Amino acid sequence: SGLDPKTQEMVRRREKLLGPAYRLFYQQPVQVVRGSGTRLWNPDGEEYLDAYNNVVPAGHANSRVTAAVHQQMQTLSTHTRYLQDGILDYAEDLLGTMGPLGDTGHVMFTCTGSEANDLALRIAKHHTGHEGIIVTSEAYHGNSELTSGCSPALGSRARLGTWVRQVPAPDSYRIPREQLADLLVEHVREQIADLQRRGQGLAAFIADSVFSSDGIFGEPTDLLAPVAKVVRDAGGLFIADEVQSGFARTGDSFWGYQRHGVQPDIVTMGKPMGNGYPVAGLVARPGVVERFGNDQRYFNTFGGNTVAIAAAQATLDVLRDDDLLTNARTIGQVLRDGIAELSLRYECLGDIRGAGLYVGVEVVSDRDGKVPDQARASAIVNAMRDRRVLISSTGPSANVLKIRPPLVFSSDDADWLLSTLADVMSTTDEG
Ligand code: PMP
Repeated sequence: SGLDPKTQEMVRRREKLLGPAYRLFYQQPVQVVRGSGTRLWNPDGEEYLDAYNNVVPAGHANSRVTAAVHQQMQTLSTHTRYLQDGILDYAEDLLGTMGPLGDTGHVMFTCTGSEANDLALRIAKHHTGHEGIIVTSEAYHGNSELTSGCSPALGSRARLGTWVRQVPAPDSYRIPREQLADLLVEHVREQIADLQRRGQGLAAFIADSVFSSDGIFGEPTDLLAPVAKVVRDAGGLFIADEVQSGFARTGDSFWGYQRHGVQPDIVTMGKPMGNGYPVAGLVARPGVVERFGNDQRYFNTFGGNTVAIAAAQATLDVLRDDDLLTNARTIGQVLRDGIAELSLRYECLGDIRGAGLYVGVEVVSDRDGKVPDQARASAIVNAMRDRRVLISSTGPSANVLKIRPPLVFSSDDADWLLSTLADVMSTTDEG
């Protein structure tokens, strides 16, 4: 396997203890013991540049967040069935970022994005009395029975729900710009008709507005509003899964759906929300949770606990005080411009896209045919890792470089990444 004996032993131990369902990154797996800002260190003290982890928008081991968590843990850690100001202050603060939805919306807390989507789908099914869910064809929405059932990204042999329908993601690289919106709406219409024919009806359309697991399509942004209209006309809900695109990631607006000028019925969120502390949740239009709330109760032992709220509040404060939205926009553009310049020399860098600090680079073997080159993408990701810059790849053919660093990524970090990529391209280019 080409691994040194120590790493090999650790990989074996991991397989024995954690079983076969876990996956590691990189041909040479990375062991990390410490992080700070955009940097990670291995046990030998070697430094890595982390251009992958969106879970820590404020940077690894951010001092404001860790202090808030520490302080709250020392004071009180309890669930949501007591009166407390913290959760209300945070809910108010969060709703304040959401535009019209925030004026009246309700916040419900979970621990993970999967739970948030699971709850959103249950609410949608209960509200509409229907069961059909429409997703994009490489979507990932979570690991519960309900959400893995609507996550085709888990693989062709994973079990999708019989109530799930798929539509192709808006592939802005291969489909002409002027056809994209109509095509998406057309596909959604077809699937709604199919659900209705079979008596399942439409409960919801759920999508990640940067289509990350579909291959990262940040543009154009006029696609989702027409979809929302078709979905609502059919009595369904529009759910924005903001686990990837939320909390300033896209650099244009605090939420991904805002770039699309759409008003979702439910917004789900997770990953970056607590800068590494597990906190997630959803915001719903009051009308859609009314029936659900009357017919059953909701409780989540750890969801929205006092420590989770402290982490979430500190994270939101840092995002705002340090204006990480602007940083995401500025540095994201630096990265895209730098890679676009490289692509003039390297034919295989076929398309550079994304939004803010969510950068996708489609690696192709043939620029005219736009043929995905998974092997080349994997070679680039691994060569970057060998130079201690951590990125990954995504999309149906795993040929789209996925660059999604903490939002505190600086212009020096961007230079480091770009010069490393230039070096990798010059040494992996077969000419
Ligand atoms: N939705 C999207 C778009 C995601 O990317 C993920 C996580 N990769 C989830 C939901 C699930 O979140 P979690 O892993 O916190 O359950």
